[in-house]
Amino acid sequence: MDRVTISLDDLPIRDDLRGLKPYGAPQAPLPVALNVNENTHPVPADVAADILASIGAALEQVNRYPDREFTHLREAFARYLGGGLTAEQIWAANGSNEVLQHVLQAFAGPGRTAFGFAPTYSMYPLLTRATGASWVAGTRADDYSLSASSAAEQVRQADPDVIFLCAPNNPTGTPMTLDVIEAVYAASRGIVIVDEAYQEFAPRGTVSATSLLPGRERLVVSRTMSKAFAFAGARVGYLAADPAVVDALRLVRLPYHLSALTQAAAEAALRHADTMLGMVDEIVAQRDRISRELTAMGYRPHESWTNFVLFGGVTDPAAVWQALYERGVLIRDVGIPGHLRVTAGTEAETTAFLAAMASIDSQA
Ligand SMILES: *Cc1c(COP(=O)(O)O)cnc(C)c1O
Repeated sequence: MDRVTISLDDLPIRDDLRGLKPYGAPQAPLPVALNVNENTHPVPADVAADILASIGAALEQVNRYPDREFTHLREAFARYLGGGLTAEQIWAANGSNEVLQHVLQAFAGPGRTAFGFAPTYSMYPLLTRATGASWVAGTRADDYSLSASSAAEQVRQADPDVIFLCAPNNPTGTPMTLDVIEAVYAASRGIVIVDEAYQEFAPRGTVSATSLLPGRERLVVSRTMSKAFAFAGARVGYLAADPAVVDALRLVRLPYHLSALTQAAAEAALRHADTMLGMVDEIVAQRDRISRELTAMGYRPHESWTNFVLFGGVTDPAAVWQALYERGVLIRDVGIPGHLRVTAGTEAETTAFLAAMASIDSQA
């Protein structure tokens, strides 16, 4: 048979998907990869051994479908989050991206709208449009901060069905205070998702939006094991919400969506939460070092409560990105004029990034 190459546009694809671009952070095999906010520290050997043993035990029953309700894992997440949360309030899926997709499938969809304050996580509009809903972008102040009054007013105007609050925000690193979340909730009628993917990198003692759950049945707080837990490759995300919200998500998930192997691996990792999170302080120290040293080089890093730094003052971001690439360092051009984003790596990776930046300083 002749090989026929057609373009996507030649297919009977949904009209609302025409012209869209898939998520596409480059996955180049460079020695220093600081582009997608992974935890670049490997899982400690003793934890890896326990995870492997747990997967081995799960394999003995892998001929059967897994526990559709992933009960033990939900109990483990409830314990990890604390604050009196129970397993009935927990949901999980293959990465928090799938968790967010479940929320959108249940509460957005055709004829509905989802809303977020730009610039924010690039997957929100993609996930929204994939459910057939439309995306509406709000705005932030010049330093990417968001006041409670501005946030509430914008939400009142847009009147969306689903609202994303990325706290702290990707790609800017900006913290979000609880009063903003409370104001947005009070100003809305839709589901309010607080995406706490980077919560563990916030200053010690920062209160999670899970503290706002009592009495707020439209509030959803999502988390991931991809960042602080060094578990991006395992694909595990979760949320806390009212049990009725969790019931709604059961309507849209695929049966048995969390494999027995994923459940076993995540449960084992959670048994070692302290060790898995042991690198957070080190990563935070490298993040603050990046901000300090970039400032000394004349760049303008934004305040960050995450494991990455967005910095401005870059005359030609594409050229700097390319120059770093040629030096074996992969960072992210998030499309904000004059800015680039870098993940805090190990001390050695961070040193490599900073040395490369210093060597191309004159071109910036
Ligand atoms: C990285 C990230 C996630 C996590 O995605 P996973 O699917 O859990 O890997 C979620 N939200 C934001 C804002 C992120 O930056």
